[in-house]
Amino acid sequence: MTLGRHGLVLAATLALVAAFAGRAAAEPLKVVASFSILGDFVAEVGGPYVSVTTLVGPNGDPHVFQPSPADVRKLAAADLVVVNGLGFEGWLDRLVEASGYRGAIAIASNGVTPLMTGEGVHAHDEHAAKAEHVHQAVDEHDHAGVDPHAWQSVANAEIYVKNVAATLCAADRAHCAEFEANAASYSAELERLDADIEAGLAQVPPERRKIITSHDAFTYLARAYRIEIIAAQGASTESEASAADVAALIRQARAEGVTALFVENISDPRLIELIARETGVKPGGKLYTDALSEPDGPAPTYVEMMRHNAGLLQAALQGS
Ligand SMILES: [Zn+2]
Repeated sequence: MTLGRHGLVLAATLALVAAFAGRAAAEPLKVVASFSILGDFVAEVGGPYVSVTTLVGPNGDPHVFQPSPADVRKLAAADLVVVNGLGFEGWLDRLVEASGYRGAIAIASNGVTPLMTGEGVHAHDEHAAKAEHVHQAVDEHDHAGVDPHAWQSVANAEIYVKNVAATLCAADRAHCAEFEANAASYSAELERLDADIEAGLAQVPPERRKIITSHDAFTYLARAYRIEIIAAQGASTESEASAADVAALIRQARAEGVTALFVENISDPRLIELIARETGVKPGGKLYTDALSEPDGPAPTYVEMMRHNAGLLQAALQGS
C-alpha cells in the first residue's frame, strides 16, 4: 500500500517532468539569422528556448550569397528573422517574398553609429591626402557606402545583443527574464573581450598599426582600436580589384611601410598572396571577418573569432 502510493507519486512526478521537458523541447522559438555571427548572438541570448538556423553558414560569404530552395523553406517555417541591416543582406527582400514569410524582421544593428567605408582610416595620417587618393582609386565602387561590418567593434556587438534580447522578449514574453539574464552575462563577457583586445593592441606602437586585408570589413575595428586598414577590394567582396588597383595598392604599401597583411576566411587569398610577394611583407594569417569557422576551427563563436583576429593582428604588427 505504502509502496503503491510511493509509486503513484513517482509516476506523477515523472509525468510532470516529461510534460515540462516535452514542452521545452517541442516549442523553442524558431529563429532564422542571416549569417553565422548573428546566429551565435541569438543562440547566446536565446539559450534552450530558441532554435537558431543561419542562412549563410560558417566560412560563407554573405555578400555574394544566393539563397537556395532550402533557404526559402527555412524562412517559411520561421517564427522570427534576425538580420544585420546596414545594407548587408542585399538578397533578403527577394528571399522573404519567395518564402511568404510575414513575421517580424529584427535589425540587429539598430542604434549602432554607422561608419562610411574607410572612414577615419587615414584621418590621423600625415600623408592623409595622398593616401586617401590612392585608397579612393582602389575601391571607388564601394567607397561611398556605409560599412555594414559593425560587429567588428565589440562595443557594437553589445548593442546587437541588447537588440536580440529585446526582439526575443517581444516574440516570447514567457522567457523574457531568461533572455535578459543571458544577455547580461554575455555582455559582461564582451566587456572583458573588448578590454583584452584593447590591452593587447596597446602594446603595438601606433606607427606600426598598418595592415592590408582583402575586403574592407574593418572600418569599425580600425576606429575602435586605432589601426590603419588598407583593403584590396571594397566593402563588398562582389567587386574585384583591377590590375591598376593592385599596382596602386603595392605602391601604397611600400610608401606607407605597411607592417602586415592578412587573408580572410571568406575571400580568395590569391590577391593578398600576390601583394605579399611584391612587397615582401609576410602574410600574418587568416582573419575571420563575415563568418565564423566550422566548430572545430579557430573561430567557432564570436568571442573566439575576435580573440583569434586580435591575436593575429598583435603578433603580426609587433613583428613577432
Ligand atoms: Zn564583408
